[in-house]
Amino acid sequence: MSPTCISRPKIPVELLLDVVSFYMESLPLRGRPRPKPAWALVEPVSLVCHVLRRATLKAWFKTLCVRDKSDLLAIQRDWPELHRWVRTFVCIFPDPKDDVDWDLGGFDCLDAVSVQMSTGVHAYPFTRFINVPQSVETLDLTGMAEAGPMQMRAVAETFPTIRTLKMQPFYTWCGLCNTNELSSFSAEVPSLLVYEGGIGLPMHFGKFLAPLTALETFCITTVYDEHMILGDAQSPYDEIGKNENIWVGECQSCMRFLYPDDVFREGWVAKKKEPEVRLPVLKKVEWAFMTESDLYETWLLF
Ligand SMILES: [Zn+2]
Repeated sequence: MSPTCISRPKIPVELLLDVVSFYMESLPLRGRPRPKPAWALVEPVSLVCHVLRRATLKAWFKTLCVRDKSDLLAIQRDWPELHRWVRTFVCIFPDPKDDVDWDLGGFDCLDAVSVQMSTGVHAYPFTRFINVPQSVETLDLTGMAEAGPMQMRAVAETFPTIRTLKMQPFYTWCGLCNTNELSSFSAEVPSLLVYEGGIGLPMHFGKFLAPLTALETFCITTVYDEHMILGDAQSPYDEIGKNENIWVGECQSCMRFLYPDDVFREGWVAKKKEPEVRLPVLKKVEWAFMTESDLYETWLLF
């Protein structure tokens, strides 16, 4: 039999696409803020044939990472089809001096936006996003210096449809002295504090987040100075393990100076239990904690 007579079994294209889809979904993802496998794991499959290349690219570009606005302009100019593939738009260290709008119009299937910023820069590039699709339900902001009421207002104005807001600022807003501080505690720090039923936001956040009528979940990470735990005298008021005072970002100084006054402290805690502005569908507020050293380690991944 001549070689041309050999009948090679053909695998249906649909099955090949299923295999690619399964493979792509099984790949390990890089951590926050880039939920995307490494290209080195994807490239071999993309080189098999035209059909698999398209399938792998489509799956890989479910998450689009851009560093510069010129990347976005190049996509709009050269690869408009990509708009339909992207579900998560990740912007890494955008230039804070670039004050031109980032137009997300056309990303009609977008679910999530992540922006990794630089803590040394007190500018917030996410405020320059325009035409954010109404399909965006999740916003993840990492690396920002501060997260106070002004940043909450900017989030609400730019991403009005979100249901989940995640933030990892370097400084934490204290609703007592109305400043952003690097947190510190004098006892063991819990890994997570969870509040349900519409409480748990720092003072004034509710007022500025009020336009977010679909917001269900708010997750914020507090970066803290781990050296203060052993280096400073313990105070019962800045131990948040038992969380009797419903900690929502108060700085160590305020807790130490103001909380010994029982009348003041009880009144403050009562206010937090019955916030002036309660977001209509807010179900959960999560406070996670991260040491300053751990934060610096995550930066080494970039
Ligand atoms: Zn304070």
